[in-house]
Amino acid sequence: MKRVLIANRGEIAVRIIRACRELGIETIAVYSEADKEALHVLLADEAYCIGPRQSSESYLNMTSILATALAAGADAIHPGYGFLAENAVFADRCKEHEITFIGPSADAIRRMGAKSVARETMEAAGVPIVPGTDGLIEDNQEALKIAEQIGYPVIVKASAGGGGKGMRVANNKDELEKAISMAKNEAETAFGDGGVYLEKYIEDPRHVEIQIIADSFGHVVHLGERDCSIQRRHQKLIEEAPSPALDEDLRKKMGEAAMKAAQAVDYCGAGTVEFLLDKHKEFYFMEMNTRIQVEHPVTELVTGIDLIKEQILVAADEPLSFSQDAVTLNGWAIECRINAENPDKNFMPSPGKIETYLVPGGFGVRVDSAAYQGYSISPFYDSMVAKLIVHGNTREEAIARMKRALSEFVVEGVDTTIPFHLRLLDHEIFTSGEFDTKFLEKYEV
Ligand code: ADP
Repeated sequence: MKRVLIANRGEIAVRIIRACRELGIETIAVYSEADKEALHVLLADEAYCIGPRQSSESYLNMTSILATALAAGADAIHPGYGFLAENAVFADRCKEHEITFIGPSADAIRRMGAKSVARETMEAAGVPIVPGTDGLIEDNQEALKIAEQIGYPVIVKASAGGGGKGMRVANNKDELEKAISMAKNEAETAFGDGGVYLEKYIEDPRHVEIQIIADSFGHVVHLGERDCSIQRRHQKLIEEAPSPALDEDLRKKMGEAAMKAAQAVDYCGAGTVEFLLDKHKEFYFMEMNTRIQVEHPVTELVTGIDLIKEQILVAADEPLSFSQDAVTLNGWAIECRINAENPDKNFMPSPGKIETYLVPGGFGVRVDSAAYQGYSISPFYDSMVAKLIVHGNTREEAIARMKRALSEFVVEGVDTTIPFHLRLLDHEIFTSGEFDTKFLEKYEV
C-alpha cells in the first residue's frame, strides 16, 4: 500500500494523514468547495475538490470519490468515521475497482449495520443481547405482546439507527403505540429506512464498549474498554479508558464476548462492540460499529497501540503485530469533545471564525484537531473543534491534568463546550466514577 485516499474531513482526516506519513504512505485528500482552507487539504501530499459543500454532493459522493482515487492512483481508501465509513455499497464499489477499503468486508458491514439482524447474529454466537423482538416490528399487536412479556419500560429503536436518532422509550401500552410510529417516522426521515425493533429499556445503564482489532488471518484481539456513559441526548461528550465500573474479571468476560461478536461476522480491521452494563453488572450487546471511532485515542493512550496504523496494516494484509497477551492497560485516559456550541444556550451550534487559538500541551496531553487560528468552522458539517485527550497514572491524575489542559485551551471567536467540561470534571458524581448514561438528566452541570 503506497498511496491512500482519505474520504473524510476534519480531525479524523488529519489523524489518518499523520499515521500514513509515519508509515511512509503518500496521502491524497479530497474536499468540498467549503473546505478549500481545511487543514487536511493543507497537510496531505495531494488534494482534490470532489464537489459542492453539501455532503451528499461531496463527502458522500461515491462516484466522485472513486473517480478521484482512480485518477490519482490511490491503492486504498480510508473512510474515517461518519460519511461512507459504514456504507457496504461503497466497500463493494472499492473492491470492484481493485481499491482496498480500509475497513471490514461489505458483508460484515451489512450484517452489523442492520441492528435487528446483528441482534440475531449475536444471539446465535452466544453474545448476550437485550431481551426484545426477534427482528423488526411487523405488527403492533405482536410488539405489544412482547413488551408485556419482557415488562415496561421498553425502547423502540431504528434498525438503521445512528447518532442517537430514531429511539423512543415507552412506559406503557399507549406510549408504545405512539413510540413505534414516532420512531418509524424519525428513522424514515433520518435514514430512509423505517424499520424499527423493540428491546427492554435498561434503567440507568453504563455505556461500555470494547475495542477490537482483527487481521485477515483470523486473529482477533481486544484492547480493553472505554466508558462512554457521559452523554447528552444519546451523544457522547466524555470518554475514558479504562471504565471505573470494570474489574479484571468483567473486562475479560466482555472482551471475550466482543471477540465472539467479531468472529461471528469474520471481522477484519478495527471495530467496536458496544454494550450496556446494568446495575447488577450484567452486560448486553447493543451494536457493533464497523469503523474507527471518535473516542479511539483513549484506548491508544492506555495501550500504547496506534489504532489507525494497525488498521491500515491489517487492511494491507499484514498479520497483527501483537497478541492478546502483549496488550496491557497502563494508567488512565480521558477525552473531552470540544465542540463549537454554547453549553449555556442548550448547546446551540456556534459556527464562525476562530480568532484566537492556543492549544494546551505538556506531559500527557494530546490534541487531535483540524482547527487553527483564522480557520472558520463551517455550519455545514459537525461542530467539533478538537478532541482533548489526557493520560495519567491514575484516574485522579487524569482528571487533574484534563482540568489543567482545559484551562490552558484558548478558543476565541466561537463559543465552545470548554466551560461545560470544566464544570463536569468538578462534579462529585463524575469524580466518584459512579455515574450512568442518565447523569446529565439527573444533575445540573
Ligand atoms: P446509536 O447508534 O444511535 O448511537 P445506540 O444503540 O448506540 O444508538 O444507543 C445509543 C445510546 O442510547 C446508548 O449509549 C444508551 O445511552 C441508549 N440506549 C440504547 N438502547 C438502550 C436500552 N435498551 N436501554 C437503555 N438505554 C439504551
